[in-house]
Amino acid sequence: MDCKKNAEMSIFCKIRRRDVSFWWDNWTVLGALANIVLGGRTSKNTKVQEFIHEGAWMRDKLMGKVSESTVNTIQKIKINVDKRDYPIWLLEKTGEFTCKSAWQNLRRKGCGTFTSSRIWHKQIPFKISFFMLRLLQARIPTDDVVNMVTSRCSCCTKHEEESINHLFTCNEIARHVWNYFCNVCAVKFSQGHVRHVLMNWWIAKANNEVHSTLLQCVPSVVCWDIWKSRCAAMFENKKMSAWHIIQKFLIL
Ligand SMILES: [Zn+2]
Repeated sequence: MDCKKNAEMSIFCKIRRRDVSFWWDNWTVLGALANIVLGGRTSKNTKVQEFIHEGAWMRDKLMGKVSESTVNTIQKIKINVDKRDYPIWLLEKTGEFTCKSAWQNLRRKGCGTFTSSRIWHKQIPFKISFFMLRLLQARIPTDDVVNMVTSRCSCCTKHEEESINHLFTCNEIARHVWNYFCNVCAVKFSQGHVRHVLMNWWIAKANNEVHSTLLQCVPSVVCWDIWKSRCAAMFENKKMSAWHIIQKFLIL
């Protein structure tokens, strides 16, 4: 199944006559849209053409289905109504499928096992490892993933759209928490994409076995505590605080 998924990601459907499945074909280069939304209907019969009117994208209709950032990506796609849809194999310049490029792509995906190997450790509870797996696949229900029309984060006074990167690394509370643990464990902290922050921990050179365990386990537990704190803020009206998250970690 993994091979099938990888191969599907490499097939890009060019929008021509628009007989392309809205949810299940890879026509936006984001992969199948059904994989990046949680909940809602993702019927195979929904066609891209339902979202086009007089040669233009119907922004309001798209906004009801996917997040604003996805809508912005879609609106950059040119529509050509005169020609047929056809699949393009993204791994070859010619657009034609070859077994060689498919195999090389699968081998490269093997590097992804490094990331997976970092989230499983006997010191990390299963529920946290599973959570990290979903986080790295952008499959946790932050507002941008579940397509909330009015999204306001719970983490800071700016109340920006809640996204994975904003929640886990970019807002003030997350920065404070990461700075604290990065200082303790001698890891470089560079604010930005959550994967970069995690990778800084996972590729840092360990001084000894204890340090090595900390480098592997701390970032997963920090993400988990940030998520728990976010859920408490959203559903129990408890204010998020960096010190509270740090304290929770320390008494674990
Ligand atoms: Zn925020």
